[in-house]
Amino acid sequence: MPPVFRFAPSPNGYLHLGHAYSALLNFERARETGGRLLLRIEDIDATRCRPEFEAAIYEDLVWLGIDWERPVRRQSEHLADYRAALERLSALGLVYPAFESRAEIAKLVAIREADGPWPHDPDGAPLYPGESKSLPADERSRLIASGVPYALRLDMAAACQRAAGGLTWSELGEGLDGARGIVPARPEAWGDVILARKETPTSYHLSVVVDDALQGVGEIVRGQDLFHATSVHRLLQVLLGLPEPAYRHHRLVCDAEGRKLSKSSGSTGLRELRAAGIMPAGIRQLVGLG
Ligand code: GLU
Repeated sequence: MPPVFRFAPSPNGYLHLGHAYSALLNFERARETGGRLLLRIEDIDATRCRPEFEAAIYEDLVWLGIDWERPVRRQSEHLADYRAALERLSALGLVYPAFESRAEIAKLVAIREADGPWPHDPDGAPLYPGESKSLPADERSRLIASGVPYALRLDMAAACQRAAGGLTWSELGEGLDGARGIVPARPEAWGDVILARKETPTSYHLSVVVDDALQGVGEIVRGQDLFHATSVHRLLQVLLGLPEPAYRHHRLVCDAEGRKLSKSSGSTGLRELRAAGIMPAGIRQLVGLG
């Protein structure tokens, strides 16, 4: 079976040089291994994703000379798949509803921090400080029935216990801090991550592992900004009984000041560069693919 690769952008902005680098690396890996390249549109965040950004993704990738298999998987069309995975985790007793608003969470963190340092996740956000996990079942049902919004969180301690430790992944690329080969996963560093919300039956972490498995992706080529998230992905894969892919994280393309590019980084946007007369070969040079 030919290996499967995927480029999985979110249509919440225009593509920039960092996306071009990732897409080109995936395209090249597929070509050099006789593999298949899939394009997945990660559009579960209805508040930030827009059709014009999705249309621009196709246009920019075609212009770059990248070819991918059709049909494209759009996550918003597969919510039932994510709901089924969520239900499996719930049936294992690993998911609980947390009712605190963002403001309440910030307040709780401030209270905890008054007593000493409070842990932050690898992205820099404070770990969930709430106590919804220990709410009695009847209180949970009452709150849900009353229509209060909630997030469905993974009980990280129980999940790690169930996965029975020793989680690792195979890093083929440039992991952070030189990590390469068999890398230990540390999902507990993320605390009780959100897997879904009352109004959205999934999250980035959940849908990415479900899709990579359903689509048979064997080698995940993506930016180092997702290196630490791989710990959560490995945990979910084990809990859901999904196959283990290999990971090839790549360096991030930075701006002239050495900062990671954001969706709004105008001068490094592919459309801006194209309008300025840069050709696809020039894009390859700008991202160091020469
Ligand atoms: N959709 C994610 C992003 O645009 C990438 C997901 C992944 O490669 O795992 O950052």
